[in-house]
Amino acid sequence: MIFEHRAVPPFYKNGFVLGCEDTREGIIIDPGDEVDELLDAATQHGLSIKAILLTHAHLDHITGVGKAKRVLNVPIWLHRDDNFLYEGVVQQGQMFGLAVDPQPPVDDFFDGEGPLAFGRYRVRVLHTPGHCPGGVCLVVTKDTKEAKDTKEPKEPKEPKEPKELPMLIVGDTLFAGSIGRTDLPGGDMETLLRSIRDVLFSFPDETVVWSGHGEPTTIGRERRTNPFLI
Ligand SMILES: [Zn+2]
Ligand SMILES: [Zn+2]
Repeated sequence: MIFEHRAVPPFYKNGFVLGCEDTREGIIIDPGDEVDELLDAATQHGLSIKAILLTHAHLDHITGVGKAKRVLNVPIWLHRDDNFLYEGVVQQGQMFGLAVDPQPPVDDFFDGEGPLAFGRYRVRVLHTPGHCPGGVCLVVTKDTKEAKDTKEPKEPKEPKEPKELPMLIVGDTLFAGSIGRTDLPGGDMETLLRSIRDVLFSFPDETVVWSGHGEPTTIGRERRTNPFLI
């Protein structure tokens, strides 16, 4: 999988470009102030971006949506329960003393679990509220149907890249060594902990987790060492 992430000040929020190495179809996730870097990465990989997916609608995750939409002209996806935050992005900015432009309307709301697709990859959408009402976790897996049909020997192969699938992109629900804040509108600690324990911790220990801020981690590491969850 083609995988790029970028973060810029002041929020150092991770934005992502994911692409299929075979078909060159891709998606952009959470374009914020680093949207130009994400668009450059997509161009450098020759990707045809199919969708803009949002893990949630806090301003740091959506300030680049308008630019991405203008350049790519592809649908914007969000969970319905975060649309009030999305439409209130100007007011969110005022809370932080920032002038933020309104963003173009959401085109599609996540309905159930998807799936969305880019090339040979699938994105399943799991609702993980708590940090905000419409937070979601994006579960990225490779479509294995073709792989099963190939007659390749079953010898263990060197992994081409360190990122084994499925991969979770969890927004601000869970961080390496921490959890999302719950003091913003619609946040709720009990709900957040339930989302992490019931939804995220149902994945195997080795599952790689990319959060909205900071470095990647794994489900197992957080299960064992996260001070908010042990
Ligand atoms: Zn957030
Ligand atoms: Zn954030």
